[in-house]
Amino acid sequence: MLAWKDGQPFSSRFGDVYFSAESGMEEKRHVFLQGNDLAHRFAALRDGDSFCIGETGFGTGLNFLCAWRLFEQSAPPGASLDFFSTERFPIYDDELQAALALWPELAAEAKALLARWKRRVPGWNRWHFADGRIRLTLAMEDVAQALPQLQPASVDAWFLDGFAPARNPEMWSEAVLAAVARASHEGTTLATYTSTGWVRRSLQATGFEVKRVPGYGRKWEMTQGRLAPNLPQSGRIERRVPRTALVIGGGLAGCTTAHALAQRGIQVTLIESAAQLASAASGNPRGILHARFGAGMSALHRFVLAAYGHALALLDEVMPVDDVQRAECGLLQLAATESEAKRIDKLSAQEWPPHLLQAVDAAQASQLTGMEMAHGGLWFPAGGWVVPPEVCAGLVQHQNITVRLDSEVTALERTARGWSASGAGFAVEAEQAVVCAAHQAKQLAQFTAFTLQPVRGQISVLPATEASAQLNAVLCAEGYCAPAQDGMHVAGATSSFDDDGTDIREVDHAENIARLSAHMPTLWQSLGDTQPVSGRAAVRCSVPGATPLVGEVAPGLYCSLAHGTRGLLTAGISAEIIAAQMCGTVPPLPQALLQALSPLHRFRNTGK
Ligand code: SAM
Repeated sequence: MLAWKDGQPFSSRFGDVYFSAESGMEEKRHVFLQGNDLAHRFAALRDGDSFCIGETGFGTGLNFLCAWRLFEQSAPPGASLDFFSTERFPIYDDELQAALALWPELAAEAKALLARWKRRVPGWNRWHFADGRIRLTLAMEDVAQALPQLQPASVDAWFLDGFAPARNPEMWSEAVLAAVARASHEGTTLATYTSTGWVRRSLQATGFEVKRVPGYGRKWEMTQGRLAPNLPQSGRIERRVPRTALVIGGGLAGCTTAHALAQRGIQVTLIESAAQLASAASGNPRGILHARFGAGMSALHRFVLAAYGHALALLDEVMPVDDVQRAECGLLQLAATESEAKRIDKLSAQEWPPHLLQAVDAAQASQLTGMEMAHGGLWFPAGGWVVPPEVCAGLVQHQNITVRLDSEVTALERTARGWSASGAGFAVEAEQAVVCAAHQAKQLAQFTAFTLQPVRGQISVLPATEASAQLNAVLCAEGYCAPAQDGMHVAGATSSFDDDGTDIREVDHAENIARLSAHMPTLWQSLGDTQPVSGRAAVRCSVPGATPLVGEVAPGLYCSLAHGTRGLLTAGISAEIIAAQMCGTVPPLPQALLQALSPLHRFRNTGK
């Protein structure tokens, strides 16, 4: 996709360069950083403040890296940066690596970006850098689709960086520039290398005051702009980082939320009723990174896709692959039934980046999994497994998090300072509260109207044989089986709705085994007539429709609930949603998806 011309990256699709051939980095600094007066504006921030840059074409990420570098040089340590960008034609990993290798000065930032780049998914991506101080939200979709999904008045400075307007007119359309203005507030600035007359006039028509100023190098002129005062969208969205928050529930939803809030500088008290974290559904010895979606890409499926990319990036932050607590062995979704084969056929008819998923036949599947497979399916190269309690432990290792165990919250009340959570012999107060207590949230008055359902799930632990130990990837059909670790396979899981029993049942073991034998026949044969040596049953929480409930419930009160079987995937991005809503910063997902998750939207008359 990326061509090279005179040693510089060049787009054959658009017939234009990504940056100036003289010095891309100096050009970027002159046009976009100085053009928006960022050194001064960053320096004027105070601890707890955040700044938001919007960009129209991410390309090689050079602008992002330059902005990140300048932010670290100029802003106070307690300030943070949101960088929002769009990219319809993301370049490949090796192309990005080659393009960024041109700037050895930015090698450290480039390395961090490259590590996240392999986690990219179509749609929105949210990645953290510099311990969460720099947040990149990258919408890998058309600019005209992405920008209207931003909150009004949320961006402080714009980098308008499409290819030349004559070659890439979609980047400069009236609709796109109107969306730029809509996401701006009084005082929002913009800068672009182009001085094309019709672009300037379109910007003026949306409410920007623009001027031509000297460009970089051989370019005579560029354009700077500032949103005029007294327009309808004048006021900036309110951004405020609370000092304290309490999080109720110490499973994956609670631990990811505590982590996201702590990274923003909020003092978090994480309250768990059990004697240890991850003692319910997040306590299984294996959690499978399994992204399941259909060709129709409903709101739930788009959420799952974004969640998958985010979960992989978050795990990279807190638990690097070590093959003991986390393995990235790949995951095969088997086309083991007629309906699965149809779903997989439809999905694979669409275009997917190969690092995300690939359709494979039985022969390829056999090669990838290390074991002869009777079916092909979908191969997820980055799929694998983790030990969820270890993920939780890693997430709460933060100086801003205090964990309070053995504390069952039975009441949540609004107070003059915020919210108070109390139970037998204790009360904790904080400015904001987040309920991540799965189906137990129903005990709290604010959540009684939510249709939260307990769903019992049991896993079975099976001793590996020499033959079954050949399996080196996770297999999924209606159930799953993980490759052997310490001589054991973990297979699961059952789903019994409205059942909150945690006893181990033979009938559930039998169900897990029946699914293995029906859908993974070669694995089943390799196991001989093995019987489960142990199991674990836990209760997950779901809602009709299975889309989790994430967002504000009442002023200062949020929830992250009903992650069902997908908590390992969906908890992390949900935590980011809540942190962004709490602090008034850029959310990690488009407005339309936030609405699909919003408890207020779905239970309009409750929780007030
Ligand atoms: N800011 C980039 C950098 O620092 O490397 C350079 C951006 S390059 C001049 C323009 C980018 O816009 C290209 O990566 C191109 O693929 C992207 N682009 C073009 N048309 C687009 C569209 N309709 N929606 C989103 N991105 C688009």
